[in-house]
Amino acid sequence: MSYLAEYIWIDGTKPTAKLRSKTKVLADGAKPGTWGFDGSSTSQAEGHASDRVLKPVASYPDPIRGGDNVLVLCEVFNIDDTPHESNTRALLRPVAEQFAGQEPIFGIEQEYTFFQGARPLGFPENGFPAPQGGYYCGVGADEIFGREIVEKHLENCLKAGLNICGINAEVMPGQWEFQVGPVGPLEVSDELWVARWLLYRTAEDFGVSATLDPKPAQGDWNGAGAHTNFSTKAMREEGGYQAIVTACEALGAEGKPEEHIRQYGAGVETRLTGAHETAPWNEYSYGVSDRGASVRIPWQVEVEKKGYLEDRRPNANVDPYVVTRLLVDTCCAALDKAGEA
Ligand code: ADP
Ligand code: MN
Ligand code: MN
Ligand code: MN
Repeated sequence: MSYLAEYIWIDGTKPTAKLRSKTKVLADGAKPGTWGFDGSSTSQAEGHASDRVLKPVASYPDPIRGGDNVLVLCEVFNIDDTPHESNTRALLRPVAEQFAGQEPIFGIEQEYTFFQGARPLGFPENGFPAPQGGYYCGVGADEIFGREIVEKHLENCLKAGLNICGINAEVMPGQWEFQVGPVGPLEVSDELWVARWLLYRTAEDFGVSATLDPKPAQGDWNGAGAHTNFSTKAMREEGGYQAIVTACEALGAEGKPEEHIRQYGAGVETRLTGAHETAPWNEYSYGVSDRGASVRIPWQVEVEKKGYLEDRRPNANVDPYVVTRLLVDTCCAALDKAGEA
């Protein structure tokens, strides 16, 4: 019997890349190998030299097709075997390797919004729903829109073997969150991209679309973020609080807030306004339990004097390969330098 491999890759759309996939039929016993595609249709090549290369980097059981079928996540290469400029995973690999000794791990909270037609799911045809207040972690048909899709998505992620660790309804109707982690930088990023693909694919069967737009509704509605929770072995160990503070300080060092913010997702300044549980995009701050700070140290971390930090700035549409690289690069280098690694 043959089986099916769904090759998934990240395209070259700017400013925010999109997911693409196509199917390969494989003979029983054959492994998903290198494949190609037309890069001129994905903003990854010009028409006159459009071949691009897909190299499998991770494989997961396919929960949509079931059986022996698989989802195959790929990196995109040029035909001369150099990573394509859209291949941000290739930039993360050496950084992850350099600081592997510090055992960095991440949990990413992916917020997103379901849309039906031009409106968020649950928004009435005319006007607006009741203001924010009852929707976050709500229950009941007057507050919850799309739960059947969310449950199916969770089931699909678990069947695929992803480290999804929770879901919740968010503050706006039709807005939801899932969390992936805590696992290493490459794993969390690979799995987040696959979980996103599964989100779009699952919702497709319900005639609903999902978006990572950081500001999906104008007005007094929260945006959508991708809070990135991060720790190293030193932070998780007894007395790790000092390492957490060192990392928070490193993130605020000269030039660092700008360097990070610039790469935290297109339209980040439209979401980080200072309102709606955000810090202004152009002011760096950190604090305990402070959901109005750029970086939050959770209350139980201060009590236990060890744990992790939460970078609240990344947009829902951030590239996880980029945010994990920046955090490892900035924080692990500072911990090395301080002798606290
Ligand atoms: P919030 O209160 O901000 O909504 P969530 O429960 O949605 O928090 O998400 C918390 C995230 O923190 C999860 O993704 C989880 O995997 C992650 N996390 C927990 N412990 C650690 C740790 N030691 N290092 C990194 N991430 C962690
Ligand atoms: Mn959360
Ligand atoms: Mn949230
Ligand atoms: Mn959070």
